[in-house]
Amino acid sequence: MINVLFAARPERWETYETPLRRAFAEAGLEVDLRAEFAPSDVDYIVYAPNGAVQDFTPYRRCKAVLSLWAGVESIVDNATLTQPLARLVDQGLTQGMVEWVSGHVLRHHLGIDRHILGQDGVWRAEVPPLAPDRRVTVLGLGALGMACARALADLGFDVSGWSRSPKEAEGVTCLSGAEGLDRALARADILVLLLPRTAATDNIVDARALGLLPEGAVILNPGRGQLIDDAALLAALDDGRVGHATLDVFRTEPLPPEHRFWAHPRVTVTPHIASETRPGSASRVIAENIRRGEAGEAFLHLVDRDSGY
Ligand code: NAP
Repeated sequence: MINVLFAARPERWETYETPLRRAFAEAGLEVDLRAEFAPSDVDYIVYAPNGAVQDFTPYRRCKAVLSLWAGVESIVDNATLTQPLARLVDQGLTQGMVEWVSGHVLRHHLGIDRHILGQDGVWRAEVPPLAPDRRVTVLGLGALGMACARALADLGFDVSGWSRSPKEAEGVTCLSGAEGLDRALARADILVLLLPRTAATDNIVDARALGLLPEGAVILNPGRGQLIDDAALLAALDDGRVGHATLDVFRTEPLPPEHRFWAHPRVTVTPHIASETRPGSASRVIAENIRRGEAGEAFLHLVDRDSGY
């Protein structure tokens, strides 16, 4: 019997219990899944932020901590965590992000607001350019960023992407390094942020970076709030150098009601809903990693604790 501790917020248990049990059965695993165990009995921890487990020291038998979230910034620096940590790469999560990013890129590309908000009897026959004439840049070409870059390229956009290590992808101009970042920003009519939050990415979109964007550029941030210097962004929005920012993630969540982002005419706030972990597909990923652990195979999607993602 494999003992799996579900260590997320208590209300998540109802959402995940059945899909996890089903996925374990499908994988042929005999699992005792519980939201409480004596720490010394636990073989694997299924983890989400704000759950009960913050000190991993007593979980000496635990073979891996399996995150239900793609972003692991809340756990990656936990000094008590000596077990391998896997983040979530999940087909449902990826599909959701592709849909959110594609939808919001198309909103700005087509100027949809002009027609939705301007039902005032004025015939505004402005024709938007076609996608090949719109340059979109995706910062972060990981599981989510690469899927979004490819989907946007398939729609015909002129897509570039930026990552730490060099990449190749059909239809996507892949850039890396400091000079690559500047090139990626300089061509971003629409900029999509899908970097993880790490020491190296905090405030990466600062006044300098904003100054490199084309006049009137649009920013979509479904990555993490800390990627953007909020004061610099507000200044760029105030004077129109940045045409619009659609923000899904924030330094403080929920975004406080008095925050300027809510009322700014050039900002759209979405409440961290760009993409949710989907219990069915995510549970199958968790089950596959436990199967691997039990078979002595390498875990999938291990976090590099030094780089922080
Ligand atoms: P991932 O697979 O780890 O990809 C991260 C990408 O960022 C990689 O391409 C990586 O480069 C690049 N990167 C990291 N640090 C960098 C640096 N210092 N300079 C340049 N590139 C850097 O992550 P993912 O699964 O795509 O997820 C990305 C983020 O999305 C998550 O961390 C999370 O914060 C966010 N997210 C948000 C939501 C939402 O609902 N809003 C949902 C899920 C996830 P390499 O390829 O070279 O390693």
